[in-house]
Amino acid sequence: MRIFDPHIHMTSRTTDDYEAMYAAGVRAIVEPAFWLGQPRTDAASFIDYFDSLIGWERYRASQFGIAHNCTIALNPKEANDSRCRPILEHIPRYLSKTGVVAVGEIGYDSMTADETAVFETQLEMAAERGLPALVHTPHRDKLGGTLASIEVVKRVGIDPGLVLLDHLNEVTIEPARDSGCWMGFSIYPDTKMDEDRMVALMQRYGLERMIVNSAADWGRSDPLKTAKTAEAMLAASLTEDDVDQVLWRNPVEFYGQSGQLQLLTAEQESAFAGNTIHRGEKR
Ligand SMILES: [Zn+2]
Repeated sequence: MRIFDPHIHMTSRTTDDYEAMYAAGVRAIVEPAFWLGQPRTDAASFIDYFDSLIGWERYRASQFGIAHNCTIALNPKEANDSRCRPILEHIPRYLSKTGVVAVGEIGYDSMTADETAVFETQLEMAAERGLPALVHTPHRDKLGGTLASIEVVKRVGIDPGLVLLDHLNEVTIEPARDSGCWMGFSIYPDTKMDEDRMVALMQRYGLERMIVNSAADWGRSDPLKTAKTAEAMLAASLTEDDVDQVLWRNPVEFYGQSGQLQLLTAEQESAFAGNTIHRGEKR
């Protein structure tokens, strides 16, 4: 089983997590740019963070046999902070880099006017470049935030096939599906969505444009939720090919639209598999 986790914040995770993910079949990930858990006080703070996503974290993942990609954006929460907004001028130079596969996470947090403006500006950056966009739907008023996000997608005029609406649930899946956007689901221990509810959604709505992630970060979360969803799919009589579609081919197709997605070559994979004892020792 090969697994692609299309939304995981590895900066906040340990090497034990990388080892467990590799053992569970994870071979590629996307790490979306987001906030720090506490407010940044200067736009320059983003530059070091973005550089670490395309540099250090990619190298760290490679030590564990996992191809690391990322998305770059000013996140919705910090879109409200005037100290952070100057980073918007620097984002374009990151968007043509190898391994930068989308503009994201963008979207709504508290649904303010500043969030709308920053969301539109960054969605336009994606549209101009033909790049995918990763849209975070808010935790509070999820339905209202999802509908408002779909309105922004229409207003900007970006191809909905380039947009992934993430953190969906039973209430927001239908408007997301009808919009033509891709549908992302974050499988969490306590909140958002669990494996069995996810399988029920697949059985009801099919597998097309469906994407599953762990969204693991520094909160209570589980970087193996993608593999656990695969197990729940097989237990519910979905096939190995269904698992491969949702947990590999769909995210590869979506993020592959960037032309900048990096996966390990067969030679790299087998070289790594034969060399696991030395994992993490080399620099
Ligand atoms: Zn996230």
